[in-house]
Amino acid sequence: MSLYTSVVDAIGNTPLIRLNRISDETGCDIYGKAEFMNPGQSVKDRAGRHMILEAEKRGDLKPGGLIVEGTAGNTGIGLALVASARGYRTVIVIPDTQSQEKKDMLRLAGAQLVEVPVRPYSDPNNYQHVARRLAERLAESEPNGVLFADQWNNLDNLRAHYETTGPEIWRDTAGKVDAFICAVGTGGTLAGVSRYLREQKTDIAIGCADPLGAAMYSLFSTGEAVASEGGSVAEGIGLGRVTPIVADVRAEHPYMIPDAEALPLLFDLAEHEGLLLGGSSAINVAGALRLARDLGRGHTIVTILCDHGSRYQSKLYNPDFLRSKALPVPAWLERGTRIEA
Ligand code: PMP
Repeated sequence: MSLYTSVVDAIGNTPLIRLNRISDETGCDIYGKAEFMNPGQSVKDRAGRHMILEAEKRGDLKPGGLIVEGTAGNTGIGLALVASARGYRTVIVIPDTQSQEKKDMLRLAGAQLVEVPVRPYSDPNNYQHVARRLAERLAESEPNGVLFADQWNNLDNLRAHYETTGPEIWRDTAGKVDAFICAVGTGGTLAGVSRYLREQKTDIAIGCADPLGAAMYSLFSTGEAVASEGGSVAEGIGLGRVTPIVADVRAEHPYMIPDAEALPLLFDLAEHEGLLLGGSSAINVAGALRLARDLGRGHTIVTILCDHGSRYQSKLYNPDFLRSKALPVPAWLERGTRIEA
């Protein structure tokens, strides 16, 4: 089907792309689901669509209504696109450290931005709490009502992946998938996909690739969510607490992935496979590589290529930024690609 009535229908049905170098190295077939090919260029278009369409069905969104959300950016872009197509407005609360490209894209997609300084979740001024309070305040005066999307607690986020991402992976691998792994932002992707795939194949291996500073490695290996030391430049992932979405997830293959391990893979994918991806995809691919090594040759492993690299030109693909974080700069990026005419 490629005749659509709106951009909303163009979300999903992304291809699986074989990651050739790490597949050949491990003797596995490692596929990345190309979520950067969604209209908003990220996996979060799916959650944005589902949260809006389900709220409509419940009567929680009225024509002309306002959607409010706290987001690292991608959920906001997905919400804003779907909102425009269906006659709603969006107000997005975003930590000011997120990439300029994402903020620009949010404005382009029609969202009104509220940028707030980064604070830990325990701080009442963390962007997620600011978004909730703002939604409550705006609801007092908004004639058509306000929907607080609340992606960390909203199970429609999980269901988006249970109903679309998971079934697509099963269909496109013709049921040959042996393992699935990805990182956690809200956990919607990991929870929804793993639940669906487990229902099809009880012995499927589920992995979680966790950036430094997050608590999912600890949650899935010990049952207790304790944040690890350090941090990551990957945006949109790194959950530090148990939420209703991750509470029931079982991931028997958790990995803690430092940026220094993931970024060289990201740069290799750009240089040798033409795949331009963001930092969370790098953590995912590094996790898939570790899982392939642990499972051994002959397995089919799927991970998520969460968003497009154009979102991070000023950061991950900027040698000065990488140096400022003491991260490796690939030779091709350092050299540049310009030829004098
Ligand atoms: N990668 C990026 C770039 C994201 O923005 C997000 C969502 N914040 C994720 C990965 C994680 O997705 P999920 O919320 O489904 O865990």
